[in-house]
Amino acid sequence: MRWKEQLLTLTPYQPGKSIEAVKKEFKLDQIVKLASNENPFGCSKQAMAALQDHQSSMAIYPDGYATHLRETLASFLNVDVEELILGNGSDNLIQIISRALLHSNASTIMATPTFSQYKHNAVIEGAVIKEIPLVEGEHDLDAMLEAVDEQTNIIWVCSPNNPTGTYIPEHKLSNFLDRVPSHILVVLDEAYYEYVVADDYYDSINLTRKYENLIVLRTFSKVYGLAALRVGYGVANPAIIKALEPAREPFNVNTLGQLAAAAAVKDQSFVEECKIKNRQGLEQFYSFCEKFDLNYYPSQTNFILIDCQTDGDEVFHYLQTKGYIVRSGRPLGFPTAVRITVGSFDQNEGVLNALSEFLAEK
Ligand code: PMP
Repeated sequence: MRWKEQLLTLTPYQPGKSIEAVKKEFKLDQIVKLASNENPFGCSKQAMAALQDHQSSMAIYPDGYATHLRETLASFLNVDVEELILGNGSDNLIQIISRALLHSNASTIMATPTFSQYKHNAVIEGAVIKEIPLVEGEHDLDAMLEAVDEQTNIIWVCSPNNPTGTYIPEHKLSNFLDRVPSHILVVLDEAYYEYVVADDYYDSINLTRKYENLIVLRTFSKVYGLAALRVGYGVANPAIIKALEPAREPFNVNTLGQLAAAAAVKDQSFVEECKIKNRQGLEQFYSFCEKFDLNYYPSQTNFILIDCQTDGDEVFHYLQTKGYIVRSGRPLGFPTAVRITVGSFDQNEGVLNALSEFLAEK
């Protein structure tokens, strides 16, 4: 077989460890997974009801245009249906965008550390990859601009950023967008958008009107609690959407995902409630870090990156033996940190108790 050479350098995405695997390995009855930034409160009751009530046949393909979801989202976001593209999770949108714009004569720019899939897809497409280190956890937008060359086709901006939880203030983002050449697509990944509380956060949908080379990506996997159903969306100028559409697989968003996501959009009180509980949860983590003098990045997301000043893998393994699955910071580019998803009040208390035991034993 003559595989693309670059495929041989890649490993598949490493998801957070599964609950079943850890239960078995450590002979534990109860496992709490705080590794993949899922919503600990599940999803909207209305989304569940939409799934239970649905009558459509499993033998029929999904609506390839996702008409109902598209129209629901368009009216919620106050955009045109032509300004939307739907994905099988935002992962799928990252793949579609890469497929449409990257090749061996193209270059692409991203921060590091950031979400792994920008690089992963760029490697598959054979593009030249320019990774610009974060500065104090934040995108170095000036350095990203300096990295632009003749071949640059995409700049990836993750705000709030995974794994740091940091965001780009409005004035910095606008200043950056003003300077990006208009033929380069800027992908603003806002997977954690709904959790943001910062006053100087921008209205990204409005920015897509001002900057016709900007696409905003969001997902139903985080605050909407529908990660299992794989639905994400992109918002951009209709010309961008039109250019991307042929690179999208015909039935990429499944029927159940379309139904549940449309119902979830209509239940914004669930989103609001989760956002409030998430803030309260983050406060639990902040107090803990302050008590134990641990560094962390203030987060605009539903996770927190804590520097435990010791090998992140070691902390990860210890917490696992106590029934908590978190993410070691090591593979995420922060070797002495762990990334923990904010859970329910009790889950947060539990993982922080286990972490304090670890620190005491150290
Ligand atoms: N972007 C970021 C920044 C993420 O953290 C994630 C999920 N880990 C995704 C995109 C992908 O999310 P999904 O495919 O579930 O929509």
